[in-house]
Amino acid sequence: MAQTLPNIIILLGPPGSGKGTQAKLLSQKLGIPHISVGDLLRDHVARGTELGKQIKSTLDAGKLASDEMIVDTLFDRLAQPDCKAGYLLDGFPRRVSQAEILKKRLKASVHPLVVNIYVPDELIIKRASGRLTCKNCGHIQNSSLQPPKVPGKCDVCGGELYTRTDDQPEVVKTRLKVYYEQTAPVAEYYRAKGLLNQVDGTQPPEVVLNSILALVK
Ligand SMILES: [Zn+2]
Repeated sequence: MAQTLPNIIILLGPPGSGKGTQAKLLSQKLGIPHISVGDLLRDHVARGTELGKQIKSTLDAGKLASDEMIVDTLFDRLAQPDCKAGYLLDGFPRRVSQAEILKKRLKASVHPLVVNIYVPDELIIKRASGRLTCKNCGHIQNSSLQPPKVPGKCDVCGGELYTRTDDQPEVVKTRLKVYYEQTAPVAEYYRAKGLLNQVDGTQPPEVVLNSILALVK
């Protein structure tokens, strides 16, 4: 696909598709900032801003933040100089309404590369339900896919492993439900415009990465 500067990539995919991992890898490979809208919002939560307090109660319930919460935060970030040559959007647009806002705010000459990482629900639930996070170093393991060598202990540092609130089955199911209601139509929105590139997210991360890089070049 022909790329016009700035180099803008929109990564889509359900929660648990490995989208965040791919975003980090792509950002490093391409030398463009990884703009995780989730991280931007969490930063507000961590700093305890008014916006952060609203977001916290929304996210704790496994729901998504409102367009109003998100758009100003995002475009404030995109106005910074490091985004001039391009950027990678992770977690935005999350709704068709946001895709339309983005189209309006971008120059007509700018054509983002839209990549959808596809993973079936069964695998997402399997990945999430067994996910264990180290309290000490943040390392992530999986009780069925990558079981800890010592039960309950991190393979890297020996720290205590726990299930994050985000990975509890009810929260995962709520997030998938919200995804299919609100975010899956974003992929359809881009597909209808002939802009959607599908990548198989069941493959190993390095294979997924190469599939995406092949679309960029
Ligand atoms: Zn650890």
